[in-house]
Amino acid sequence: MCGIVGYLGNGNAYDVLIKGLHRLEYRGYDSAGIALVAPDGKLNVFKAKGKVENLETICNDKDTDASVGIAHTRWATHGEPSDCNAHPHYSEDGNLALVHNGTIENYKLLKDALEEHGCKFHSETDTEVLVQLIEYIKINNKCSLLEAVREALHQVVGAYAIAVVEKNDPDTIIAARQSSPLVIGIGDDETFLASDASPFVEYTKDAVYLNDGEIAVIKRNEPLKVLNLENRESKIDVKTLEMSISQLEKGGYPSFMLKEIFEQPTTLRECIRGRVVENGKRVIISGVRDHKEKFLNAKRIVIVACGTSWHAALIGKYLIQEMCHIAVEVEYASEFRYSNPVLGKDDIVIALSQSGETADTLAAVKIARSMGAFVFGISNAVGSSIPRETDSGAYIHVGPEIGVASTKAFTGQVMVLTMIAMAIADLRGTLTADEIAGLGKVILEMPELVEHVLKLNDKIERLSLIYTYARNFLYLGRGYNYPVALEGALKLKEISYIHAEGYPAAEMKHGPIALIDAEMPSVIVAPRDHLYEKIVSNVQQVKARGGSIIAIVTEGDSVIRNIADHVLEVPEVPECLSPIITSIPLQLLSYYIAINKGKDVDMPRNLAKSVTVE
Ligand code: GLU
Repeated sequence: MCGIVGYLGNGNAYDVLIKGLHRLEYRGYDSAGIALVAPDGKLNVFKAKGKVENLETICNDKDTDASVGIAHTRWATHGEPSDCNAHPHYSEDGNLALVHNGTIENYKLLKDALEEHGCKFHSETDTEVLVQLIEYIKINNKCSLLEAVREALHQVVGAYAIAVVEKNDPDTIIAARQSSPLVIGIGDDETFLASDASPFVEYTKDAVYLNDGEIAVIKRNEPLKVLNLENRESKIDVKTLEMSISQLEKGGYPSFMLKEIFEQPTTLRECIRGRVVENGKRVIISGVRDHKEKFLNAKRIVIVACGTSWHAALIGKYLIQEMCHIAVEVEYASEFRYSNPVLGKDDIVIALSQSGETADTLAAVKIARSMGAFVFGISNAVGSSIPRETDSGAYIHVGPEIGVASTKAFTGQVMVLTMIAMAIADLRGTLTADEIAGLGKVILEMPELVEHVLKLNDKIERLSLIYTYARNFLYLGRGYNYPVALEGALKLKEISYIHAEGYPAAEMKHGPIALIDAEMPSVIVAPRDHLYEKIVSNVQQVKARGGSIIAIVTEGDSVIRNIADHVLEVPEVPECLSPIITSIPLQLLSYYIAINKGKDVDMPRNLAKSVTVE
């Protein structure tokens, strides 16, 4: 989390950095700050608690003239959100300013040692120790900033993407990464750095993704230099960005979240394109096709993920077990990494992360590879860490997702998992050609079907008014739609701050049913599938206890219609494809409830999109 951005060139650094911070605000919005090296050699640092707009207000009457600078938008890990804990942090003598994304695990040790040498600290952050340490080394070793950074990083344990500038040197930025993302943009006579490419995509499409343990030396009028901590120079690998500006703007919608919900027909089309071909008869996932043997011999698949991706992973389990007859386990990456996992060469680990940077998922990838498992990454961000650290993988290709609550990435992940399951089933012969063609045909129709579901928008907006002030919600579903219920509950919690529990509908009898009364609505995902009769009973059970019910049902359903208080009808699709259809009304319901409550749906409190800390 946290977004960092840097600029060195001939333009106005302040404008580039502020715009960049707005693009990165999805990563955190506890505070924002900027450090500018002025032409007269002054280091001007401005910070403000809260969103980037507060920083802009503060900077209105300040001297922001500079052509080099670094900036930060924070998601606090050490120390409360406050002006004083905001980055950039500077060395006590005011010579250096530094921004940081990540956590320094041994900061206390380093801080104590520096304090013993007379260093005074001004914030509660782990970050400040970095800048004080670098300056301490620089003074004591009488060395350059680059050497001091390199030496300091040898002493640091933890995760970081950092950028440092020095007073009196308007021609240099030193940046480095370890387990937190950092990408450099190379323009004409100007260089950018950022946590992702969005702050500079309008200036250049040439990007260099730093690897763990690398330091970038950005100097005016000199080509970019990348070194490792042992001072060996790395080859510069320039990638061309696929991102476009329009993907980073709201395009007439009041929020990114609503835009992203409505984009789903298009994003699903992008996700399917070139993968389901010949009118649905063939499914090609190159990451599976190129590693046939692995998928043919796999004894077990373990899917690791966090948050919404974990819900998509649960759907993946149903898909792969049904289509491929391979045992699948789904693990929270944060638990998996500390659970002494038992893995071997016949296991496949699928790592699922929208950003491709989720710290726990990335750590799980490293563990799985070290144990000899074959690791397949699924992510949205091209060039991010997970695709680079895995043996093979697939992108979901839904374009940048800016709203903190995931919507289009979830449906993209489920779609990719569906196609992966079909590709593996094709290899292993566990689905017939006819079965593949039947599903493939519906997959090609999914964008239109989702378009159709989105027509429920107005109805859901009206319905949301009835439920805006409920204090608790229960979300129920079975089979493929049990993870959909979990995801629906998570969406509501994330953006409207209403407590919601997702539960397998049949499990409700073992506890949550005690909560049901007229005050606690239940959202029941009940399309017509092989568990339909069972879920009808669960609907009855809720009704019998006086609970009100919103049910997601298949078009034409007449049974649940007569029991539930409200029904939202969605088109009939094969059971395994239903989560993509049924999750959409739940996205809209949580959206409108949050809007009715006056909440900021794109930047819900305490959350950040890309969780790059443990
Ligand atoms: N640990 C730093 C802080 O609390 C950076 C946090 C982050 O990257 O999320 O300020």
